[in-house]
Amino acid sequence: MMISGAAHALSLDVPQTVTQGDMITGFVTPPTAKVTLNDTPLHVGQDGRILFGVARDEQGPLRLTVTLNTKTIAQTLRVTPRSWSIQTIAGLPKKFVTPNPQQQARIKADQAKIKATRTAPITNDFLAADGFAKPAAGPISGIFGSQRILNGIPKAPHYGLDIAGPVGTPVVAPAAGVVALVDPDMFLTGKTVMMDHGAGVYSVFIHMNDISVKAGETLQAGSPLGTIGATGRVSGPHLHWGMTVAGTPVDPARVLGER
Ligand SMILES: [Zn+2]
Repeated sequence: MMISGAAHALSLDVPQTVTQGDMITGFVTPPTAKVTLNDTPLHVGQDGRILFGVARDEQGPLRLTVTLNTKTIAQTLRVTPRSWSIQTIAGLPKKFVTPNPQQQARIKADQAKIKATRTAPITNDFLAADGFAKPAAGPISGIFGSQRILNGIPKAPHYGLDIAGPVGTPVVAPAAGVVALVDPDMFLTGKTVMMDHGAGVYSVFIHMNDISVKAGETLQAGSPLGTIGATGRVSGPHLHWGMTVAGTPVDPARVLGER
């Protein structure tokens, strides 16, 4: 039974414990409430959905507050740490491990382009509420969060899931979204596609061989994106699938539910 007063009740539904690398979905009632995560405002969908990423090195606790008029409720979320493996990759061409100044400038320009895409959302509506599926068939050859040692030199963590497969293996959209970026030749990432899944959630697909979509196209889950390749900085053909939520890299394997 609906009690009239219940319509004004403020509520927050989120997990009490989250894990490093998670994409977390919560719901807020009413959707007109203001929500912050550690003092940073979060977008609230028309259905009250909130989405945020838990960074690889987040120690927590995280604090969510929901405010409507003069009422505020708050919830503290504990963060479960993970241990990160070390990924050693040898035999990469020297230009990828110790790039010269000209190559560094290219890397910087590519990264700026990716960042600009992530900060110019096409839509605030979350288009991928039906969930995510693996974008290519094949064994997992690289996991999120690994510390990478390239030709003996420690580098930034690996922020994605690698799926190995021969050149030409089909790559499909893991969820619905809009193609936000297509680049035929980035220095590290090679042929690169980005999808905007709405509400600040992005996928990036790199090292592709062929790209069969154009920026601005709306895709359903399972729509073709192109094929697995070996473009950019790779030691062999594979698809690297990265995901970010409001700029925070999250673990696609956790999003898939393969933990
Ligand atoms: Zn990768």
